[in-house]
Amino acid sequence: MSAAQRVAVPEGARLVLATHNAGKLRELRELLTPLVPGLEPEQVVSAAELKVSEPVEDGLTFAANAELKARALARATGLAAVADDSGLCVDVLGGAPGIFSARWCGRHGDDAANLRLLLDQLSDVPDLHRTAHFTCAAVLVVPAAGAGTDETVTVVERSMHGRLLHAPVGEGGFGYDPVFVPAEEDAAGGSGRTSAQMGAQEKNAISHRGKALRDLAPVLADLLSH
Ligand code: IMP
Repeated sequence: MSAAQRVAVPEGARLVLATHNAGKLRELRELLTPLVPGLEPEQVVSAAELKVSEPVEDGLTFAANAELKARALARATGLAAVADDSGLCVDVLGGAPGIFSARWCGRHGDDAANLRLLLDQLSDVPDLHRTAHFTCAAVLVVPAAGAGTDETVTVVERSMHGRLLHAPVGEGGFGYDPVFVPAEEDAAGGSGRTSAQMGAQEKNAISHRGKALRDLAPVLADLLSH
């Protein structure tokens, strides 16, 4: 995409996040800005605010989908762009729903129906075999600074391991959180709380997304300082 085809970018914007979800924008801003010296929350904008539509996520992996979202956004805006892609991988289902997590029931984003279908599929599976993990791939694309320089692409992928309950517990979080007990909770000798029973900060400290973004932050800090 040539500079002439780019969308208008607000003055002072330095980073664009590939999301159309206000809650996710807040979460990503809160995670990233304290870790990137000099990056102010108002310098972080979203694809939705800039009216950049989401590309078709036709990659076969979390990393491929995150990378295609970040590349498209960096090209459309000329800004450094961060995208993430995540999902739940259930061992006894061979890693499914995986990249189909958001549309497992056949409709995109129907969290309640996705969760119901998963629980039905696992109804006969005993506790011993209900292990699973969330994975998040986070990708940073920084556009070429000028002729003779290259776009840089950084990919990180992190997971949160745990086990699945037979019925939902907890009101917080989203998606499959109400049936997911993180391994950290069991290791700490906790009462088996699900990630839907944890506060946002507590979940971020151990979550796939929190870990991936914390890994990406120093790279972003370094690239934005040039
Ligand atoms: P996306 O990366 O926003 O497209 O998320 C994909 C889907 O994976 C979500 O719709 C949820 O179903 C699931 N998912 C990803 N991360 C989490 C999480 O932290 N908790 C619960 N569900 C999650």
